[in-house]
Amino acid sequence: MTTFVIVGAGLAGAKAAQALREQGYDGELILFGDEQLPPYERPPLSKSYLMGASPWEEALVHPEMWYADHGIDLRLGTRVSALHPDEHAIEAGERVRYDKLLLATGSSPRHLRGDDALLHLRRRGDSDAIKAAFGHGRLVVVGGGWIGLEVAAAARQAGTEVTVLETLDVPLQTAIGPELGQVFADLHLEHGVDLRTRVSVAELYSEGVRLRDGTPIDADALLIAIGARPNTDLAEAAGLAVDNGVLVDAALRTSDPDVYATGDIANAEHPFLGRRVRVEHWANALNQPATAAAAMLGKPASYAELPYFYTDQYDLGMEYVGLAQDYADVVLRGDRAAREFIAFWLDGDQRVLAGMNVNVWDVVEPIKALITSRAPVDPKRLADPDVPLDQVADISA
Ligand SMILES: Cc1cc2nc3c(=O)[nH]c(=O)nc-3n(C[C@H](O)[C@H](O)[C@H](O)COP(=O)(O)OP(=O)(O)OC[C@H]3O[C@@H](n4cnc5c(N)ncnc54)[C@H](O)[C@@H]3O)c2cc1C
Repeated sequence: MTTFVIVGAGLAGAKAAQALREQGYDGELILFGDEQLPPYERPPLSKSYLMGASPWEEALVHPEMWYADHGIDLRLGTRVSALHPDEHAIEAGERVRYDKLLLATGSSPRHLRGDDALLHLRRRGDSDAIKAAFGHGRLVVVGGGWIGLEVAAAARQAGTEVTVLETLDVPLQTAIGPELGQVFADLHLEHGVDLRTRVSVAELYSEGVRLRDGTPIDADALLIAIGARPNTDLAEAAGLAVDNGVLVDAALRTSDPDVYATGDIANAEHPFLGRRVRVEHWANALNQPATAAAAMLGKPASYAELPYFYTDQYDLGMEYVGLAQDYADVVLRGDRAAREFIAFWLDGDQRVLAGMNVNVWDVVEPIKALITSRAPVDPKRLADPDVPLDQVADISA
């Protein structure tokens, strides 16, 4: 009997277990998770669950019984402490042998020095603790990234005073650039958030923070939301190749042929983008594990989906597809003031690198088609909502 072991019972681990069974694997399958809860999705922790708008059960990847029903040995509250690739074994209180291993250990919040007793957001208990602070004075959020802003929106909607502290010129600047980051800055300012940009925190106290320029900011609760780091310690200690995540090929295979990695920790070769990509996105943790499962079963496998993520804040819903770390231009189609538009990031050859639809729906597929065509576009036609997206290619090119 073969044994496959999955380390990390988050969305990626649960989806990998599901994919292995769906793809015909009928051997022993053990899924280790160090949380006490069965695998769940994290996006609701900063949105509907945090706002009390959806019950906990909706966040579960599968009902708890699903694992036993599918012959999956789900071992919760069990941390895998070591990996020995040469011996095909892991340590989790006991030594467990494997034939193939999948690492799906996800990410952990980044910390500031001395912030251990403060709020962070990764797990259900974190979301519950943040919610308990709503309505009790001022919540100060350090970090204007996705999680910080989503919590700010939820807190404002619960009637809480909120201050957001961001080091850069606008929130989300590294994720979507200054042009679109400003859209989110305006959104939060309109909803009464005390948004302070170009500030950095010099000291943290339980009652607040002191900025580098000496300004004190009082807080009744303090959330540190300055990003996440991939949980690569296990892989690193085992001698696997690690560099901004666990290095894997397009089939999600690590530097050890019997060890695979998926989800937030995988820094994977991307066949379309032509380089390695590591994304901390729900859709990646949802879809990528099926490729890892296929590869573990010896089938040809390659993950080539474009990065995709979404957010919901107040009455703004958006989806982003593609990747535009370096871009030459941003083109908007639609009404920015009404926050109903699509933004496109173009490279120097006027090819679409990424698109973000804000309160405009059912356009992700045509945006993906534009990106994958690599066709130069005419920016004027791209900006014109009357020109269908499949007709924006630069006809003079
Ligand atoms: C609050 C919040 C909101 C988010 N919202 C969005 C969103 O709106 N859109 C979007 O695209 N993405 C969002 N994300 C990101 C998305 O949730 C992650 O990309 C996704 O959870 C990654 O899944 P994963 O399975 O790789 O990792 P995780 O979900 O982190 O799961 C990994 C699991 O492995 C466990 N583990 C780690 N090490 C060990 C070990 N040694 N032994 C046993 N278990 C271990 C961890 O405790 C964890 O339970 C959000 C994330 C958070 C925290």
